[in-house]
Amino acid sequence: MILTKSLNKLINRFKINDEISLIKTIFFRFALYIYLLMENVKCLIIGSGPAGYTAAIYAARADLNPVVYTGMEPGGQLTTTTDVDNFPGYPNGIEGPIMMQELQKQAERFGTDVRIGHVTRVELNSEKGKMHTVTIDENKTLYAKTIIISTGASAKYLGLPSEQRLIGGGVSACAVCDGFFYKNQEVAIVGGGDTAAEEATYLANICSKVTMIIRRNEMRASKAMQHRVNKTNNIEILYESEICKVLGDNVVEAIEVVNNKTEVKTKIPISGLFIAIGHQPNTEIFRGQIEMDDLGYIITKGKSTKTNIPGVFASGDVQDKEYRQAVTAAGTGCMAALDAERYIGTL
Ligand code: NDP
Repeated sequence: MILTKSLNKLINRFKINDEISLIKTIFFRFALYIYLLMENVKCLIIGSGPAGYTAAIYAARADLNPVVYTGMEPGGQLTTTTDVDNFPGYPNGIEGPIMMQELQKQAERFGTDVRIGHVTRVELNSEKGKMHTVTIDENKTLYAKTIIISTGASAKYLGLPSEQRLIGGGVSACAVCDGFFYKNQEVAIVGGGDTAAEEATYLANICSKVTMIIRRNEMRASKAMQHRVNKTNNIEILYESEICKVLGDNVVEAIEVVNNKTEVKTKIPISGLFIAIGHQPNTEIFRGQIEMDDLGYIITKGKSTKTNIPGVFASGDVQDKEYRQAVTAAGTGCMAALDAERYIGTL
């Protein structure tokens, strides 16, 4: 009897031990799984345009072991451009997508870890030296000592199917990038803000005629810019007008414009159509956590790329609504990596 009791006790003990070891195994496997899903990085770069890759080149050379998450559009806005003729160092120009591949290779040459993925959530820590938490594609968590935000801005388009079909075939959102292709030809530009006014005067120097299409009976641009437009002979302004269709099979041949008041439609033959109705900075995931201006651009301090959050820097179009060039974005990418390196040096 005593022997049976002792045996039962022993069996029960073993059972409990088995359960404990099973729980331990499950726990360790789960912990390993969580560990594999999480990662600590010294320098996380969000975005893969000229700003992001230049930041990566500098950060990698400074031993910050940068990780770049490319975002939805690897290579950024330049991958939607054809030739880039104004980036220094390419005397014969270069295609936008090829330039971005070369920038990526250059960043990787120094050890940058470039990953296809989209940052879906951030939790920025406002205490100096603390890690920032970043979620990738809703399921992977990263802890970053520094973050360089280079998520860029997206040009707004009218949304007409005929316009979308001809992007890259005569429809462009950047006069400085593509205006040269329409030398001595007639073009049109949509918008009445500072960008449209500035780009219209830029195009007027290259093209034979520029037609500005403005939906209201006045321009939104500053008086100084309006003055410049008004005294340029080869700019014609059509107020209270909107484009209803872009015409052309493979390239832009004309636009159909409607007068909002009279509803009269006119066909205007052109070779290039520039859309200048504003940009949207890609800052949605940072909203409420970092200082931004009224339009959603990240505010940087003085001549640096520092934001109001320690260890978080912003470079490229996400913090620049004025210059918006590949070369200026690259310049601020370099600055951001240097700022990140100095920040880590102070910890
Ligand atoms: P803005 O928002 O100032 O202007 C957009 C223009 O596009 C407006 O005329 C607007 O018309 C028009 N528009 C918007 N949507 C449509 C549509 N669907 N169809 C037709 N027209 C449309 O954008 P900008 O890019 O011009 O400027 C952004 C900011 O950057 C501004 O603060 C500007 O001052 C600044 N900037 C400064 C420069 C400088 O100082 N050198 C140079 C460039 C920009 P509506 O007025 O009717 O809304």
